[in-house]
Amino acid sequence: MSDTIFGKIIRREIPADIVYEDDLALAFKDINPQAPTHILVIPKKPLPRVSEAASEDKALLGHLLWTVKLVAEKVGLSNGYRVVINNGADGGQTVDHLHLHVLGDRQMRWPPG
Ligand code: AMP
Repeated sequence: MSDTIFGKIIRREIPADIVYEDDLALAFKDINPQAPTHILVIPKKPLPRVSEAASEDKALLGHLLWTVKLVAEKVGLSNGYRVVINNGADGGQTVDHLHLHVLGDRQMRWPPG
C-alpha cells in the first residue's frame, strides 16, 4: 500500500470528506480548494503518476476518468468543470499518488498557471 497521505486516506488512517467510492477508486474533497467545488479522484492502487503507469493500468486509467464523470454528476457540476492531472516536478505534482483534480462551480481560464 502507498505510504503517501492519500494512502492514509484510503486506509482511513486520516479523515477526508469522501464523496464517492468503489472497488478501484476513491473521491474526496481537496483540503485546499482552488474552486468552490474541488474534488480529487484517486486510484486505490498506489500508482504514483501517469508517467509510471504500465500497460496493465490502461483499464484503471479509463476507470478514473469514468469516475470523474460520475462524481461530477453526483455533485451537480452541470455547467461544466475542469479535470487536471499534475504529473511530476514540472507538472507541479506534490503528492506522489495519482490524482485527478475536478474543479467546478466557477469559470475556468486558459492558459493555466
Ligand atoms: P498536486 O499538487 O497535483 O499533487 O495536488 C495535491 C493536492 O492534494 C492539493 O490540491 C492538496 O490541497 C491536496 N491535499 C493534500 N493533502 C490533502 C488531504 N489530507 N486531504 C485532501 N486533499 C489534500
